[in-house]
Amino acid sequence: MNKFTSFKNWAEEEQEEFKNPPIEDLEPYTYNLFGRNINKNILGVGWLDENRPYNKGEVPIAFIEKLKKAKKINHTKGWHDCPFCGKARGSCEIIVRNNNKTYLAPELIIHYIENHNYAPPQEYINVVINNYEN
Ligand SMILES: [Zn+2]
Repeated sequence: MNKFTSFKNWAEEEQEEFKNPPIEDLEPYTYNLFGRNINKNILGVGWLDENRPYNKGEVPIAFIEKLKKAKKINHTKGWHDCPFCGKARGSCEIIVRNNNKTYLAPELIIHYIENHNYAPPQEYINVVINNYEN
């Protein structure tokens, strides 16, 4: 076994150990929190993985255009490769706020919408289109 192989195995085991629990749409955001500091007003959207079905459908063009201009945060907190095609990588999160709620989505949400027909919840679409504050 060469050094690279053993490092790769170690890294895979580490990832498995610290695997984040899945976040359903509009459930409290838990990514990298491991059960700590969960705020019920911070909601996750678009945290898709290959093991769970997700909502598909058309979304308004205006929604996608506004989402692309929304503020990005948490750069380099980690990265995600697209679990469906492996052809895109996200390394930050998109934050959208409305009144007392904050929505956090992976950068890849745009890729999921454009390439994998993902349709986020209508509540999120409305917030992005109508009245989000950065
Ligand atoms: Zn993809």
